[in-house]
Amino acid sequence: MSATSDKTPRVVNPRFKYEVADRPGGQNLKVCFGCGVCTAGCPVAEIDTAYSPRRIIRLVLLGMEEEVLSSELIWLCTTCFTCYARCPQDVKFTDVMGVLRELAVERGYVDPSFPARLRHMDELVQTLRRDAVRRMAADRRRAVPVAVDELKELVREVADA
Ligand code: SF4
Ligand code: SF4
Repeated sequence: MSATSDKTPRVVNPRFKYEVADRPGGQNLKVCFGCGVCTAGCPVAEIDTAYSPRRIIRLVLLGMEEEVLSSELIWLCTTCFTCYARCPQDVKFTDVMGVLRELAVERGYVDPSFPARLRHMDELVQTLRRDAVRRMAADRRRAVPVAVDELKELVREVADA
C-alpha cells in the first residue's frame, strides 16, 4: 500500500488477523477466499486502482499491521456496502474497515481527530449532493455552475476544518 515505501522495514504482527477478527465486525475476516468480487464492484477502486478491498484483507491475513494501519487507503472507503452485499463468503468488509479504522486510531497511526474530521467531510458532501439535486430539479440550466460553486466552497470548508 502506498503509505509504506519499498525501503521501509515492514513490521509483521502474526496476531493481527486474530486481533481484527476478535472485534465486532471483524469476525468473518478469515473466511475470505480472495475472489475479488468486493474489489470488482467497489466505486472507490474504480477511480483509484491502488485501492483494493481484496488486497487489504490479504494484507491483514498476512499480519501486515503497519502497512495496513498506516495507509491512507483505509480511509477512502465510502461505506456504500456494495462489497458487503456481494461477498459470497459474507466477510462484511465494510465492518472490517470500521475495525481497521478503530485500530489505526487506538494504535496511534493517525491523529485521534481524524475520524471526526472525516465524518464532517462526509456530511458536507451529503449536504452538497442534496442541495445540488434540489437545484437541478428546480432549474436544470443552473445545475452545473451551481455544483462547481458548491464544490469550491466544500474544498474551502474542508481545508479550514
Ligand atoms: S468478495 Fe468476499 S470472499 Fe471475495 S475477496 Fe472480497 S471479501 Fe474475500
Ligand atoms: S463499502 Fe467501501 S470497500 Fe466496500 S464497495 Fe463500498 S467503498 Fe468499496
